[in-house]
Amino acid sequence: MPTRHRLLASLVSLALVSPAFAQCGIGDITGDGVIDGADLGYVLGAWGSNDTNADFDSNDIVDGADLGLLLGNWGTVDVAAGSFPDEWIWGNPNCAIDPQIQVHQFNANTFILRQSLCTNFEGPFIYLLFGQDKVLMEDTGASNIALYTTVKSIIDQWLLANRKTSIQLIVSHSHAHGDHVFNDSQFAGKPNTTVVGTSLTAVKNFFGIPNWPNQIVDYDLGGRVVTVIPIPGHHTAHIAFYDHQTGLLLTGDTLYPGRLYISQWAPYKASIQRLVDYTADKPLCWVLGTHIEMSSTPGVDFPLGSTSHPNEHELQLTREHLLELNAAIIAMGPSPAYQVHDDFIIFPLVLALDNPCPDASPRMPDDEAMCMCRPKTVFEYRKLREALAK
Ligand SMILES: [Zn+2]
Repeated sequence: MPTRHRLLASLVSLALVSPAFAQCGIGDITGDGVIDGADLGYVLGAWGSNDTNADFDSNDIVDGADLGLLLGNWGTVDVAAGSFPDEWIWGNPNCAIDPQIQVHQFNANTFILRQSLCTNFEGPFIYLLFGQDKVLMEDTGASNIALYTTVKSIIDQWLLANRKTSIQLIVSHSHAHGDHVFNDSQFAGKPNTTVVGTSLTAVKNFFGIPNWPNQIVDYDLGGRVVTVIPIPGHHTAHIAFYDHQTGLLLTGDTLYPGRLYISQWAPYKASIQRLVDYTADKPLCWVLGTHIEMSSTPGVDFPLGSTSHPNEHELQLTREHLLELNAAIIAMGPSPAYQVHDDFIIFPLVLALDNPCPDASPRMPDDEAMCMCRPKTVFEYRKLREALAK
């Protein structure tokens, strides 16, 4: 069959498949708020090339997968689009180039910050979502950086651009681990600022979630509603934010391109299912976590503690990754297993005793059948990996 006819045939067969999930705006190349014939024409014109405008899945070729995404999103765009930088600061070996914090404006009302790996190997990401009354911040970094002054200047510029005099800053957290809360003290007592506590009780009380973890609640920033989804498993008080304005799902350390450390297996599985169920009928443009530990080579992560990530994986994951994770952990049943995927690594920190930890690590206080084995050093980590690979 000539190429053109093959193309049309595949187009027809793809069009017959109704999109399984809600649209998210991917495919609106012309930027007119609707994915239509003009965008389709552009994709067909760029067929086989590496035109980044039409290469929606960023695999360096405009092909059937991109066409499928476009057709799956066909129609009116109902989310605010945004962009990612070509590259995040990755811990340039001489550390002379990296600023302490990279500030990226995703769109007019959304900012993504990255702490330099040169300041801390965790290199966490921090998010700022502006509504009309409140700006929601997720996390405060892993070690001492000039975060307050950076955030203050972002807020001041936003206020200027929006002709406002003040906005309430809500300093919240994906979870309470040290690499996400370190600079809370910089925000304590500052004007127009609320720092949400990090305990489970504090999180439940602030957002109004008495029925944890099964209750999902909305938090209104003023013309921008963010849904708070309890997702214990990596940490007991972990939450996700789903932003209705952008179709972004902020997943913290629960799903990101790196090692998904799981301390509570059953709650983690339920949490991933909760995310899948909640987003099933909603636009889900990107899944954004708080670290990058994978390289751009599928299945290859940087060693624990690396302060330089040359050829780092991109930050943004998709709904397909969420579904891939869910299917994998469902298949494991009650027995968590170490499992390497192209874009993330399932890394249980508790293992059943018939698959013991490589050293005499303590048992879980609430479950005698499980032992804890969170690696604390690079050497422990390597040992654990070797043991798990057997
Ligand atoms: Zn973390």
